[in-house]
This record gives sequence, structure tokens and C-alpha cells, in this order.
Amino acid sequence: MKLAVFDDHRVGVIEGDQIYDVTDAVPGAGSAWPPMYMNALIANWKDLGPKIAAKRVGAEPVPLASVKLLPPNPCPVHVIAAPANYRKHIGEIGARSVSKGRSADQMGFFMKATASLVGAGGAIELPKGSARRFDHESELAVIIGRRARNVPRAEAMGHVFGYSCLIDVTMRIEPGVAEEERVTRKSFETFTPLGPWIVTADEVPDPHNLRNRLWVNGEPKQDANTRDMIVNIPALIELISSVMTLNPGDVIASGTPEGVGPIAPGDKVRIGIESVGEMTLPVLEAAVFSPRRF
Ligand code: MN
Repeated sequence: MKLAVFDDHRVGVIEGDQIYDVTDAVPGAGSAWPPMYMNALIANWKDLGPKIAAKRVGAEPVPLASVKLLPPNPCPVHVIAAPANYRKHIGEIGARSVSKGRSADQMGFFMKATASLVGAGGAIELPKGSARRFDHESELAVIIGRRARNVPRAEAMGHVFGYSCLIDVTMRIEPGVAEEERVTRKSFETFTPLGPWIVTADEVPDPHNLRNRLWVNGEPKQDANTRDMIVNIPALIELISSVMTLNPGDVIASGTPEGVGPIAPGDKVRIGIESVGEMTLPVLEAAVFSPRRF
């Protein structure tokens, strides 16, 4: 099943280019803050999944193009990300990398702010007036389905609910001049496009064999396969759950392959992951200056 959130926090099931509104089957759905209903839906999927399927049968289809897609989980408890998780990416951004040739296996993980999420119907907004370099990173997002704490890799895949496309937008350091922490550089609002929907794990036969592609203005920039991850999905869950509790609805950005490069206002960024989906977001300059400039 493909699950999306749209318009004023409605919940929908996607089939082809149609969306079916199933909000009535989702307890607590709506725009009340914080919009955490998708976490509860995912946590209670065993009971609620059949209710959503039943609701879908009676729902009227609406063209997908007529709705505004929000992040398919607007408020996960955590957004966790793997640094340097594809060999060919390591080293490609030179002195602007803080990984110094190390991989996710050695460095562990970092966090992105939940507030940085944006859906397929939104835009990537770069800080107004910035001369910094901002990059696209095309990543498979793993959506956690069951609470995970100290889960060994052999049991980890049973904790996965589904998958989504994620762009890990990143402000690069300027060595010796500006070297903010990763969390700061990757947490600007709209720097985590997620979507266009969550596809449940039963529809993705092998998440470690998915073509992952990204285009800027129609030009191919990234084209790789998830089989080349250094720390694969079960090993990521083992690693993260050895440190903290993963909650239903949590999002893991599994790392970017090679081909990372800059984006600028006016660009259109398209991400497409096999068996998951694709989405295109425009890149804009923020409307107002932030009091602290970057
Ligand atoms: Mn990344």
C-alpha cells in the first residue's frame, strides 16, 4: 500500500495517479500540532491497516495532481541519517567533507531536525542572500514500524514499516571559514524532502536492490543502487538501536551514493527510487533574511 498525507493533513491511499481519502479511519488525524497521527497509525498498523483498506473501497478517487502532498509522516519522533554510506561518494566532495575518508561504519549516525521535513508538494528553500554551497543527496528513507531497542541485525528487518524517497539537502562547510555541525547544516527548514508517499515493506521485495536516481533540471546527477550501501538497513537499525530507541514512524536516511552536487534557486530537483516512487521539488530562495545569516 502507498500512504500519503495531503492538503490539510488528510491521509490518503495512492493507486496509480489517484488518491483515496481514508482520513476517517486514522485516529487523531488532522492539523493539530504536533501532527503525530502517522506515528500512531504505523504503531497500530495491524489493527488499522485493514480499516484503511476497507475505507479505501468506499472512497471516491481524486486525481493526485489536484492535491498538495505533505511529508508522508509529518512529525516522526526522530529523523536519523547515515553519513558516508557509499564508497564512491566518500572523497568526492574533497575538503568540504567532514568525514575525512571515514565511512558510516566508523562514524555512526547523525540527526536531522524533524522540522526540516517537506513533502512532494513543497519546495526546497535556501537561506536568502547566502553565498554558501548547498548540495542534493539522493537517499532511500527507511520508515520504522515497530519500536526497536538493542535489535540485532538478524531481527532488524521485522522492524521496518516501509520506504520513501528522501533528499538530504546539505549546506557544505567552508574549511577554516565556516564549519558548523552537521545537524545545523542539514536542518534548515525544507532541507529534508520526504515522499511522495510511504510504500509499505511488503511491496518492496528487496530494498537492497533498488535503483536510486536524482536529476537537476532534467540532467542525471546520481544513479546508483542500494546494494552498494556500506552499512545496510539491518546493520543501520542494529547500530542506531544500540544507542537509542527507534519509534514507529521514525525515518532513517540511509545515505547518499556518488554524484552529489550543488543546487541553486530556480533549479528543479527530481528524485526517483525504484519500487518506491518519484517526486520533483523546485529550489527557491527564502522570502526573508534570517537574523543570523549563512
Ligand atoms: Mn546524507
